[in-house]
Amino acid sequence: MATPGPVHEALAGLALVDHHCHGAVTADLAPGEFASLLTEGEAWPGVSPFDTPAGVAVRRHCAPLLDLPRHAPPADYVARRAALGAQEVNQRFLRAAGAGVFLVDTGYAPHPLTTPAELAEASGAAAFEVVRLEQVAEEVAARGVEPGEYAARFREAAEEAVRRPGVVAVKSVAAYRTGFALDPARPADSEVTEAARHWFAAAPDGGRARLTDPVLLRHLLWTAVDLGLPLQLHTGFGDADLRLHHADPALLTDWLRLTSGTVPVLLLHCWPYHRQAAYLAAVFEQVYLDVGLALHHTGPARSRAVLEEALEITPFRKLLYSSDAYGVAEFHHLGALCFRQGLADLLQVRVDADELSLPDALRIAAWTGRDNALRLYGPPVSDPARDPSGRPTRKV
Ligand SMILES: [Zn+2]
Repeated sequence: MATPGPVHEALAGLALVDHHCHGAVTADLAPGEFASLLTEGEAWPGVSPFDTPAGVAVRRHCAPLLDLPRHAPPADYVARRAALGAQEVNQRFLRAAGAGVFLVDTGYAPHPLTTPAELAEASGAAAFEVVRLEQVAEEVAARGVEPGEYAARFREAAEEAVRRPGVVAVKSVAAYRTGFALDPARPADSEVTEAARHWFAAAPDGGRARLTDPVLLRHLLWTAVDLGLPLQLHTGFGDADLRLHHADPALLTDWLRLTSGTVPVLLLHCWPYHRQAAYLAAVFEQVYLDVGLALHHTGPARSRAVLEEALEITPFRKLLYSSDAYGVAEFHHLGALCFRQGLADLLQVRVDADELSLPDALRIAAWTGRDNALRLYGPPVSDPARDPSGRPTRKV
């Protein structure tokens, strides 16, 4: 770790823009439920999720916020968490994250989660919404529509969704559904109709079918481009639903070539393909990346290394901060802590070695932690007066 210096101070005081996160669970969690949310896998018998880099980081860095000693044992941790209650715990960690803005993916909620407005309330920050397009498409299909009308209905529904107050971007989880080894071209209307026909036929009676058709996912990505808003794409690391090698963002190269000059494309998470993502950000104007999720899962012990690898060639205006916290507010805090500490360490070392001037280091810290996101997501995010919740928000 570098000797803390002015870069650490600047990053410690920076109101971050967490450009991709989810809500925190609003209900009190049983000990097993809490542990299972610490991992992207499962809480297997005999293998505690506390015995992971994320688990030890929670005990080291989150326990003190619950008035416990550093490295508190897991049993003490979950007992104290339960005693304080979900609302108090969420508020402590969300405030400790020190974000000025959260952009919240509202399309994945197997648990009851804080809405963006509730997240804003608990954190004292502004919160905005990112619309998950697969959910919009699945709702259109569930409402019942003729295959020949699907394309138009989906487009209308997506346009309606992004007009909701507080929506600033769209997201696709195509990585989870088909992966990125897709034909990059926009599908013809006839192909979309035919694919919709197959999709609807496969739906359980009265039920909702998951969108996994490659033609319809290509169509979804191209519809996203037409919407004109920044497009977030899950890439790399995620839960067990994923075939990791299909989520390598380099597989998007031909599609990125075809969509150049259109909307900003934000590659989320990226690990272990953050070097591939860095290459894409270096050669495609519209491409940006973050290393969210990997920050708290590697913990402060290694998140600096992940950031260093991501920044080997990434232009400094192309890296953003995200926590990708889901469910437990510990991760909103831990993501921010890992980012601040890892980035400050790596920049301060370069300043100390005279590879970087201090003003340049401070500029890079502010760009990556806040300003790149403000520039991309535009006035609603950068002007807290336009916070759709109407509450006074902290200046960013
Ligand atoms: Zn996420």
